Amino acid sequence: MDLLTTGAFARASRLSVKALRLYDELGLLTPAYVDPRTGYRFYDPAQLEQARLVVWLRRLDMPLAAIRQVCGLDAPAAAEQVREFWARTEADLTTRRDLAAFLIGHLSGKDDPMNEHGQTAKAVASRTEGDATADDARAAALSVRYAALSDAGLVREGNQDAAYAGGGLLAVADGFGEHGAPASTAAIEALRRVDAATLRPGDLLNALQDAVHQANEAVHELAGPTGTTLTALLWSGASLALVHIGDSRAYLLRDGDLFQITHDHTLVQSMLDEGRITAEEAASHPQRALLLRALDGAAGPAVDLRLHDARPGDRYLLCSDGLSTVVPQEEVRRVLAGRAEPAQAVRELVDLANAAGGPDNVSCAVALVGA
Ligand code: MG
Repeated sequence: MDLLTTGAFARASRLSVKALRLYDELGLLTPAYVDPRTGYRFYDPAQLEQARLVVWLRRLDMPLAAIRQVCGLDAPAAAEQVREFWARTEADLTTRRDLAAFLIGHLSGKDDPMNEHGQTAKAVASRTEGDATADDARAAALSVRYAALSDAGLVREGNQDAAYAGGGLLAVADGFGEHGAPASTAAIEALRRVDAATLRPGDLLNALQDAVHQANEAVHELAGPTGTTLTALLWSGASLALVHIGDSRAYLLRDGDLFQITHDHTLVQSMLDEGRITAEEAASHPQRALLLRALDGAAGPAVDLRLHDARPGDRYLLCSDGLSTVVPQEEVRRVLAGRAEPAQAVRELVDLANAAGGPDNVSCAVALVGA
């Protein structure tokens, strides 16, 4: 076997001599032979394939430590590793895209409610559980009525979900693990401490980031394998801030059509995005509950945060997967469009989930924006 000099191997692999030296030091691409006398390095032509793999993985911006791991695996395991890396990269990109959109709006002054919406009115909140919150009436650019309801369902012993509607906040959280119930409650409590009405929409980003951090700290302190999803809307004038992590969902009913405005952070959703499974396969996938992201106490949870302009007549629904996995979207649309009172809508949606067997805790929060 004729070995190639470093220069010849560099030309053939399109890697620089300097890069080859670095990759040798990092154990990514070890020369086949090093002359003990001169220190010259020589490569086997069969190593070109690995060299090309390293080049391609570098083009994906994969860190060198991860590349070393991939190079040590057989082809199917390496493929799986690259797939996982790319799913994480895309999730990160989505978060950054949302943040960029938010900042563009913020810096161009489009999030100042007084620029676009001069008039103010009262927003009146109501809850179907606990106290009626007439004192939630507050100045807002649009009048909003809302209600929330959480139910254990028919199979689970306890309820680890939490739902809230009041004070300009609509939220659902779906706790899991040993301390799922306190985790979901803590997540919503952290958001309740954000006084969105006193903040300009642009300042909401920082306040929400802090609240998410506090919620995550609270989950961390519960200890043990536990966590929660969190999907919430906070009103600030006519703007809505959307906070989302996990597989609870937010829907918008506008002009009669129902749109899902959150993206599930699940393994199944990422497989669906990559075209590896169909929507039907996703619906019955055995691992459909597996979350890629949640508030689980680990540092730096990647929460989706964005601003959304509410319009008169908009209807919003937040729900846990206890609703979305068992009630067809068309049914959800029909109830959300057809009920005049938010309390009626949440009651009927929870009843539909239970009529479908109620296999999971189910939570709904609905907001109707006045015309
Ligand atoms: Mg659930």
